[in-house]
Amino acid sequence: MSGKVTLVGAGPGDPGLLTVKGRAALAAADVVVYDRLVSPAVLDLIPGTARQIDVGKEASRHPVPQHRINQILLEEAQAGHSVVRLKGGDPFVFGRGGEELETLARAGVAFEEVPGVTSAIAAAAYGGIPVTHRSFSSSLHIITGHAREGASLSIDFDALVRARGTLVFLMGVTAMPIIVQGLLEAGMDPDTPAAMVENGTLPSQRRCDATLYTLPRQAAAMDIHSPALIVVGGVCALGKELCWFERLPLHGKRILVTRPRARAGTLADKLRSLGADVVECPCIETIPILPCPAMEAALRDLSAYEWLAFTSPTGVETFWFCLRELGRDARHLGGVKLAAIGPGTAKALADRGLTADLVPGTYDAAHLGGALADAARGKVLLLRAAEGSAALTDALARKGIAYDDIAVYQTLYLFPYTRALRKELEAGKIDAVTFTSASTVRGFLSTVGADADFSRTVGLCIGEQTAGEARKHGIPVRVAEKATIDSLVELVSHSFLGEQRKESKEKP
Ligand code: SAH
Repeated sequence: MSGKVTLVGAGPGDPGLLTVKGRAALAAADVVVYDRLVSPAVLDLIPGTARQIDVGKEASRHPVPQHRINQILLEEAQAGHSVVRLKGGDPFVFGRGGEELETLARAGVAFEEVPGVTSAIAAAAYGGIPVTHRSFSSSLHIITGHAREGASLSIDFDALVRARGTLVFLMGVTAMPIIVQGLLEAGMDPDTPAAMVENGTLPSQRRCDATLYTLPRQAAAMDIHSPALIVVGGVCALGKELCWFERLPLHGKRILVTRPRARAGTLADKLRSLGADVVECPCIETIPILPCPAMEAALRDLSAYEWLAFTSPTGVETFWFCLRELGRDARHLGGVKLAAIGPGTAKALADRGLTADLVPGTYDAAHLGGALADAARGKVLLLRAAEGSAALTDALARKGIAYDDIAVYQTLYLFPYTRALRKELEAGKIDAVTFTSASTVRGFLSTVGADADFSRTVGLCIGEQTAGEARKHGIPVRVAEKATIDSLVELVSHSFLGEQRKESKEKP
């Protein structure tokens, strides 16, 4: 049975601009054939089960010629696969999507097309430029600034100037001075507002504001590179006022997230929605210790304990798994009281229908220990990481409270030493590193090397114990108000507004 090709527009870069239909097509794909302009964040949405074929084209080099791409699509579909052909922006806007579909139509292969958000409109929009506006223009012209091989640009500049609409040039970075000259010679006012938007909709977006006359000089001064749009027309004057994207609190900030992969999502997404360029670096992974005879024995004899205490959602998950393995459920907990180090852990309990009886006012091991020591009469069962903080057990011991401290998961430092990351860090290109536990600090150190120069970044820490670990290694730190992810996100955005109480960078 023959397969099918779905030609999907990936949008200009921001993965949020991929359409719902495009996303569904990707989720169902056996094979994805993609171009250079599809952003890594969109490629991340391709399911692990799909085979990926990169046919990325460079402006002057064509690693995979168009006829070969057509052939790949045919072969894959004829082999019965569900193929997604993923293209930057909209496939029919200077994307050669039409040519690819013609090949399929002639061979009798089934196909569909899912339009995408074109960079011609979206990159301008993220640069604060509405491509039409009643006060400035009543038509929009999208023009290629790329000449066919061996030929010169064939643009009717007189017609464009006469039309008096907004002009958007794609693939025009190299030819920009020639385009500007063409428009000037055709009589366009040199003071006409003009702009370029580089890497539109991406965290690295930059906008160059100019007039038609000054554009070549200003773009050269900013060293604007492809992919970039050239926009010419009165609407460009609105960019300064309407450039909402570049005003997001974390725009242009490169922030490293060191959480384990499974838990990075929320923090990374929240930072991205504030405009940050998030680098995910899962320096640690938590691995449940299962089977765990010590935990099994304790759970069988749970009535020996007055309190059951957790210091992370992972601890709760591992405990719950073990309980179920023993053929028990929540009823088995009977009268035992539950303590959680903070709201995240309390939520992990609540997700299983259990309410924490105790959450300390400050969410760290020392305060949990202190609060438990005050509340406990009987024995405490701690189910936590193998290298859990001694601050908790010290607090219990000081008050003579009996406890069993059982390691139910281990932290592994899996991310390899990465020279490139260290270089970026030392060059001051990583504005901040987020740490959500002392173990993420240790994992980060094994990733970049403990002897790296940390003076050009800042460690944004969830709590005092985490900060203490970072300080020990000479990482300048700031500490979240409360030990929660939301508070950490707040710290990150405030750090770059200069509002947050901060420790001086000089102090190790
Ligand atoms: N089909 C695509 C355009 C392909 S032509 C679309 O609809 O967007 C490639 C050109 O698109 C680039 O040379 C550049 O001019 C423009 N472009 C693509 N992505 C862009 C981005 N994120 N920011 C600015 N320009 C972009």
